Amino acid sequence: MKKPVAMIGLALNVASVLHPLHTAAYYEYREQQEIREIELNIKGDIEPKLVETVHQVLSFLPEKFSETVEFMQLSSNHYDPRGMANSKKVLLNTADIESEEELAAVTVHEIAHAFDLGVLRGGSGRATKIMYGRTPVLTDDPSYELYRESWVTETERKSDATDADFVSGYAGWSPFEEFSESFTLYFFHHEHFKNLAKNNQKIARKYAFMRDKVFDGVTYADATDQLYPDDVFDVTLLSYNFQNFLEAMNNLPRPIDTPTVQVKVVTKTPNRRA
Ligand SMILES: [Zn+2]
Repeated sequence: MKKPVAMIGLALNVASVLHPLHTAAYYEYREQQEIREIELNIKGDIEPKLVETVHQVLSFLPEKFSETVEFMQLSSNHYDPRGMANSKKVLLNTADIESEEELAAVTVHEIAHAFDLGVLRGGSGRATKIMYGRTPVLTDDPSYELYRESWVTETERKSDATDADFVSGYAGWSPFEEFSESFTLYFFHHEHFKNLAKNNQKIARKYAFMRDKVFDGVTYADATDQLYPDDVFDVTLLSYNFQNFLEAMNNLPRPIDTPTVQVKVVTKTPNRRA
């Protein structure tokens, strides 16, 4: 999840047929949806269970998060980071990922990057001092509301910023990692984020930004299965139970009459090497 120049993380939301717990109303909702496909390329030997995990994550993330994603890849290579993304691509690498919980969280973290970079964009605003590669973030980029809380540039924090103002150590690395870490915490560990917000005004504003500007007021089940450590470096390594999370998501009411686009992940396994 380190940030190469033109590539941060990616995002997705998939509906699939892998959820026997869905209700009839849920299927009715799905039938009314348009379908957008995202290609998921499998490179090398990947456990089928991990492919399914990516499909499941995508089935619960609202479609807007993956709106600009065209391509995803699942590979296994110890020399690559666990995930990378830009606005169009999400690359996931299972080599150093130890559980379906971790893969699900890394997938969400990368998709958050794609949403941040591809969907939440400025238009006619002025350039700020925060750069993504060679491109300045604009004042009317919706994410700037989050970034400007603690950042002067993409590497320099505001003089009054402290480590306690970030949801994790990694969130303190850059405004872009802060976006993805905060997004992932909101999605999987909602109660923990809320608790942090009670004791820190900046985190309270960051939480409100995620809730209102990113997740449209929707809160998710918190599948955390232990007390949180005080000092979290990486949100994707926090403990929770993915199966409990899926079950809780399956029991959420679905907005049957809301027209949305369903994202379908199409798995492609190349059978020969070029
Ligand atoms: Zn990242």
